[in-house]
Amino acid sequence: MSPAPTEGGLKQARPGSGSADNRQMRPGSAFADNRQMRPGSGSADNPSESQLSAALVDNPPAGAELGFYVHVPFCAKRCGYCSFNTAPLEDGAMARYLEALHREIDLLGAIAWSRRVRLSTIFLGGGTPSLLPAQDLAAMLERIRSRFEIAADAEITLECNPESVTREKLAGYGAAGVNRLSLGVQSLDDSILPRLGRLHDARGARAAFEAARAAGCDNLSVDLMYGLPGLDADGWTRAVEAVLDWKPDHLSAYGLTLDAGSLWGASGVEGLPTEDTQIDQYWRLARAAAARGLEHYEISNYARPGCRSRHNQIYWHAAEYLAAGPGACGFVGRMRYANVKATPRYCETLAGGDLPIASSEHLSERQRLAERLILGLRTADGVPTALLESRLGGDARLRELVDAWRARAVLVDADDRVRLTEAGFLLSDALFVELL
Ligand code: SF4
Repeated sequence: MSPAPTEGGLKQARPGSGSADNRQMRPGSAFADNRQMRPGSGSADNPSESQLSAALVDNPPAGAELGFYVHVPFCAKRCGYCSFNTAPLEDGAMARYLEALHREIDLLGAIAWSRRVRLSTIFLGGGTPSLLPAQDLAAMLERIRSRFEIAADAEITLECNPESVTREKLAGYGAAGVNRLSLGVQSLDDSILPRLGRLHDARGARAAFEAARAAGCDNLSVDLMYGLPGLDADGWTRAVEAVLDWKPDHLSAYGLTLDAGSLWGASGVEGLPTEDTQIDQYWRLARAAAARGLEHYEISNYARPGCRSRHNQIYWHAAEYLAAGPGACGFVGRMRYANVKATPRYCETLAGGDLPIASSEHLSERQRLAERLILGLRTADGVPTALLESRLGGDARLRELVDAWRARAVLVDADDRVRLTEAGFLLSDALFVELL
């Protein structure tokens, strides 16, 4: 699954700071304010959802192309490590959510500036979007098409859990317009998968991958996790090689972190590998992926040439995207916003006719610059050297730090750009904190 702007926060791929589900990567370091507000209780300091909706209406995007993230919150079971915004799939909950989501799409599409923009990517993350029946997914995409112009070559990604897909269902997703799948495998060790709370086994993961290919998916990503309890370096190598044997077009790999909000974050978990083992696992993956011709194009992501995730690149380029669904975060114009997290209240707010925006923030120039640097430096393309220079300015301490990184060759310059090396990716948090 893929870093997605939900409330889970910016996911880092280095050992000790990653997450299994890469979904809506919230370039959220600057977005501290996640107040939950009640409709009708607005004031200057505590705006209502109506006022927050108006802020989005009055804040047109700077560009003509946007990404669109849709959060599907439901999971059959909560995984121990997960801190994402999920909800149990109770009777009738999916139908209520879909009704609300269609209203949200209508409201977003009715904003005057929506007619002037085109969607270049759509990403359905979760939660477990593959709990959606294919006909419901088709209806959702149709609703988006009826309200927005979608680029003819738009990338439309759906996150899938292996146990919730069949070849027929995946073919239905393809017929609905999904042209990229992201399969949440996480591990191929049948003694580890149940400990994580996953509902599939190694055979099921392989079967789901093959079903996706048989259904015609030619842009297929696999998610793995390292730093897992009970995972030693050789076990990790076996999993990596096995997945690479499948020949995925894209691979995301996150080091486990015990995030606040996860079950393990609250209770702890035994058997975690040491940091050195996690670092060893990072390098084993980097070497194996390179040997198979995958480019390490972002801290946590590898791709066949031409198969980078276009949607996630919108986040890493600090570009603009709309968001819908409980807890989803969007970034339009200079405004970052977050939807109501709780699915029942998300549905109630939309039933009342308001966009379910819980909080918003207008980023300052300084915040924008920091985000562009931090997000850009996550990628192998790095950032323009001039952009980094504008942050360094007269900050002698920061310049000294950056010079030290350059001297160690973990930060390198070429063609008027500066980028982190693979060794630099491992250390990136230390630099990113300073760039804020
Ligand atoms: S399947 Fe597990 S990891 Fe993925 S969103 Fe649901 S609870 Fe979280």
